[in-house]
Amino acid sequence: MVNLTRWTDDVLDGADRAWREVDALFEPTLRLGVTGLSGAGKTVFITALVASLLNRGRLHGLTAEGEGRIIGAMLRPQPDPDVPRFAFETHLAALTGPEPQWPESTRRVSQLRVSLRLRPSGLMSYVAPARTLHLDIIDYPGEWLLDLPLLDQTYAVWSGSALTAARSSARRGHAADYLDLAGSVDPTGPHDEDAAGKLAGAYCDYLQASRIAGLSSLAPGRFLMPGDLAGSPALTFAPLEAGERPGHASLWREMEKRFEAYKRVVVKPFFQNHFSRLDRQVVLIDALGALASGPRALGDLTLAMAETLSCFRHGRNSWLDQLWGNRRIDKILFAASKADHIHHEQHGRLTRLVEAMLGDAKRRASFDGSETEALALAAIRASSEQEIQRDGETLALVRGRRASDGRDVALFPGALPEDPAQLLADAAPLAPGEAASGWQAGADFARPVFAPPRWTMAGEDGPPHIRLDRALEFLIGDKLG
Ligand code: GDP
Repeated sequence: MVNLTRWTDDVLDGADRAWREVDALFEPTLRLGVTGLSGAGKTVFITALVASLLNRGRLHGLTAEGEGRIIGAMLRPQPDPDVPRFAFETHLAALTGPEPQWPESTRRVSQLRVSLRLRPSGLMSYVAPARTLHLDIIDYPGEWLLDLPLLDQTYAVWSGSALTAARSSARRGHAADYLDLAGSVDPTGPHDEDAAGKLAGAYCDYLQASRIAGLSSLAPGRFLMPGDLAGSPALTFAPLEAGERPGHASLWREMEKRFEAYKRVVVKPFFQNHFSRLDRQVVLIDALGALASGPRALGDLTLAMAETLSCFRHGRNSWLDQLWGNRRIDKILFAASKADHIHHEQHGRLTRLVEAMLGDAKRRASFDGSETEALALAAIRASSEQEIQRDGETLALVRGRRASDGRDVALFPGALPEDPAQLLADAAPLAPGEAASGWQAGADFARPVFAPPRWTMAGEDGPPHIRLDRALEFLIGDKLG
């Protein structure tokens, strides 16, 4: 078991111990949101980020660390008693055990506070008193951001667009059972709990199958991440054709009531209690995973990113605008995760792909007063690099321990193009009757699953990574001065 005493108490020398007593009111807090769709790498990112702040030997790219201005870092009780604590110790134990395992993924919102003791910068650095910055890290599923557009929609409008999406070429194969079931019920007939439960279950199965196929745009977000609300009426609804004037006690009206309850008891409280209080945000994007799943998955992820981004823009949703008031998230980092799955020669191309995916949406976020940046990172680097000669050409490989059998393997995961435009053109939705072109799922890009590297917190170094320090510099560097 990991011994945390070192990070919670003994990290400070006696003279500095008193800082813990300073009234928290005078100590600034920065709330950093970490989001991304399921499997994007949030849990690994937060665990690596916190471990790296506690053991800063590998944060060369963080200016405050290079200049010796970070005196210490420690975990502190988090200030919101009603929010689950991010299970840092459990995740760290999984990663640093004798047989390192990837930790269990994010399923709900959670939070962790790391407090940094800082020496002031400039001429006064050794005479001015040290100060504290509390970094509150809030982990939440990106799927929940996809629910924002629901707030502006009626049940009838949402049903119409959800059914159109379910019948689209990318999805109808997954939605067939749901569409059959929805077609077999009479929405204007009397409400029947059994039918409602079956419809909600079948709709959830369709979303689940779409997710397994690599699709990303999967609202309502809680259907796949129900947390404590599994089985509650607010999660037991599904889209139905409106039909002729459904009466009060009809199935359609009951579904409408539940859709409204979902907005009221699920969507609004999340935006009110968590999202609107964020200062900075990192959005993790598993673009390489989507590439390996094929053009439709990349197209769907691009769509989901645009939907996610609209949450960060002012003037898009009047309810959210009121909530924000004059506040805003002033820095947003879009990070292509798991960059250790490709050779560093291709990292620039991966960043350009993510920038192109965000496209117009990213540019507008910048205009809206938030500073944005895109980069390719690996929160935990599980591979090394190797070049081999084949037929007179140099092949740039990545090498690591394969998670499935522990064998050391070297592989070429695929070549990203210099210009991502063609990839995105191949990923665009097909017009009716148009045949799919471009690359093939699984054939042109591989999805390597490497086991985590062997590493422990015993020394001075956090986990091996790629550009985690650059991410930190962008996200919190200006607050460490
Ligand atoms: P979450 O659902 O967003 O919390 O995703 P996780 O953080 O649980 O990551 C999902 C999976 O992606 C992990 O189990 C790993 O297999 C992989 N992964 C995440 N981050 C990295 C990384 O930095 N490097 C590598 N090689 N794999 C990663």
